[in-house]
Amino acid sequence: MQKKESHNTICSYCGVGCGITVNKDNNGALSVVGDDEYPVNKGMLCSKGKNLNYVAQDTSDRILHPEMKWSRNHPLQRVTWDIAFKRAAAVFKSIINNYGPDSVGFYVSGQCLTEEYYLANKLTKGFIGTNNIDTNSRLCMSSAVVGYKKAVGEDAVPISYDDIELADCFLIAGANPAWCHPILFRRLEKHKENNPKVKVLVVDPRKTQTCTLADLHLQILPGTDVVLFNAIARWLIERKKIDTSFIKKYTSNFEACKQSAFSLTLKEAAKHCGITVEEIKKAAKIIGSAKRFISMWTMGLNQSVIGVDKNVSLLNISLLTGQIGKPGCGPFSLTGQPNAMGGREVGGMASLLAAHRDLNNANHRNEVQEFWGGKPIKKEAGLTATEMFDALDSEKLKAIWIICTNPVVSMPNARKVEAALKKANFVVVQDISHNSETTKYADILLPAAGWLEKEGTMTNSERRISYLPKVIDPPGEARPDAEILWRFAQEMGYSGFDYTSASEVYDEYCLMTKGTNIDISGLSYERLKNEGSFQWPVPHKTHKGTPRLFQDQTYFTMNGRAHFNAPKQIYNQSERTNAEYPLILNTGRIRDQWHTRTKTGKVKRLLTHIPTPYLEMNKVDTYLNKLNEGDIAVVTSRRGSVRVKVKINLDIREKVVFMPMHWGKILNSDFSRANNLTNNLVDPISKEPDFKYCAVRVEKY
Ligand code: SF4
Repeated sequence: MQKKESHNTICSYCGVGCGITVNKDNNGALSVVGDDEYPVNKGMLCSKGKNLNYVAQDTSDRILHPEMKWSRNHPLQRVTWDIAFKRAAAVFKSIINNYGPDSVGFYVSGQCLTEEYYLANKLTKGFIGTNNIDTNSRLCMSSAVVGYKKAVGEDAVPISYDDIELADCFLIAGANPAWCHPILFRRLEKHKENNPKVKVLVVDPRKTQTCTLADLHLQILPGTDVVLFNAIARWLIERKKIDTSFIKKYTSNFEACKQSAFSLTLKEAAKHCGITVEEIKKAAKIIGSAKRFISMWTMGLNQSVIGVDKNVSLLNISLLTGQIGKPGCGPFSLTGQPNAMGGREVGGMASLLAAHRDLNNANHRNEVQEFWGGKPIKKEAGLTATEMFDALDSEKLKAIWIICTNPVVSMPNARKVEAALKKANFVVVQDISHNSETTKYADILLPAAGWLEKEGTMTNSERRISYLPKVIDPPGEARPDAEILWRFAQEMGYSGFDYTSASEVYDEYCLMTKGTNIDISGLSYERLKNEGSFQWPVPHKTHKGTPRLFQDQTYFTMNGRAHFNAPKQIYNQSERTNAEYPLILNTGRIRDQWHTRTKTGKVKRLLTHIPTPYLEMNKVDTYLNKLNEGDIAVVTSRRGSVRVKVKINLDIREKVVFMPMHWGKILNSDFSRANNLTNNLVDPISKEPDFKYCAVRVEKY
């Protein structure tokens, strides 16, 4: 390819946030390679990242013009942007006038750029006057957010990827980074290759690809993570393998943690977890002997009715061993989406405020109102993701604006979500692709610009903020999400939305962070373009960024100490198995697909890995259910059923089955959609759904 232009940007998929160099030839054709200079991936890309040029260039599925239904029973028809904005504003105003601001809501995405996230929040919380804005990050990271807030005072990942090469012990729990965070896993793999004494412990009911690196795989029963972490804590305390000086000087509430850890003996814990006492002791001994210990986790802990308890009990282990705020150690949640963290920074959840300000704090609410010059900010949290669709179903919520996410496939109990969208008075969907099943429910469909078609910033799992340039024009009349939001706000008559570029939005947000713990007032677009990416905080114009937090052992809590938390529930309290529903269904990702496949599903090369949905099942369970490899099985839960091909696997525990979450409707049938089965029970604090624990039965079709 004859190279004409070259641009550095960031991958649009997972929270690892790899740097990508996009080359454009004289004919406008794009190619991508890993950015050699980017500190995260140093030139490496996984299969998804390597194929992003096909996704960017194939516009066959793109929404090219605004479309509108003139009434609910009419088909979508092409309209101008002007008509679409006028109608959207008129309907929103009318609903707000008749039913109040809490009758409308916005559901956004961890794939939105920070500027878009910021504007959606400003519009909703500051001007419409409701906190009904939530994000699909609620389905992924909200339990980790609460865990961090409880332990270190704020939603603050303390460490960097560069700490990986400094650590000598890793505990990977409820995560399969070999498939879901491949470049991060590659770094870990290389580190272990170079340093064979490095220990890796994996906690997972399935023996995944990640276990190829494990010195010890703790194949626990689903939902028993807290029991395991508590048992490890007990062993560490009993064997005096804890850092008493650290605990005394820098933490609070140790006794509560100890009491919780001692609530079960190791023997009892092992029985609950379905593993041996020896395995627990071995894991605890490895952690207790480590000089530099990192814990990594993701959805297996977060997506649970006890997601917060799982998080705090794991965080307790870092505090017990004093393994935080130092090189090569600390807790490290692996973000699912590319900008889930950026969204949280600008307050992109129903329970958060911009720049890590607190909705419960009157001073914080006043600061935000004063800064925006809008309406008083409500104290009460708004509707969270699942609550929003429940409220549509009960007709409490009348209108919803959905941006860059496909809840009809990704939300638990998906048929209920479809029913709720049918009941809604008014649905606006802002997206790039007709491949999203949610577009079918739109009264107004707005074409958004995609990756490479707009500029903005994102923050990856290690707090690294990067700039993404505009490289190509969006197709048809598609516009950047930020512009769509500020033009809608102008149509609503709100002041303070007279932006002309994403950089103006970014500058405003930076100013808002001044003096906070995530201060990035020293980080301009210019610096990002000229000097590269930075890890927050970056509080002044010559500041180099902050690779590691809490190095002075001062935490963001009220008393400045890290806080031990006793988990409230140590067992998963979601639905029970019984004779009718004897198996536990676990859902998750596969290596070459992303979310609901609206992008990866159109890349032929990515379909060669696993082309169709499947049900992973232990040999014993297939025998008991008279199933063979390749049979079509009907999987039924208390909410619905799916038909799916059986894959016999010795690597999954008996009585546990697994199904990927990516597939929605195939040939107009929803029989492959895993979320027909999952339930919408949520963690009581984080409100994150219980995707990993759903009672099912499996029968031959
Ligand atoms: Fe993109 Fe994640 Fe793959 Fe990196 S590891 S290339 S960020 S999908």
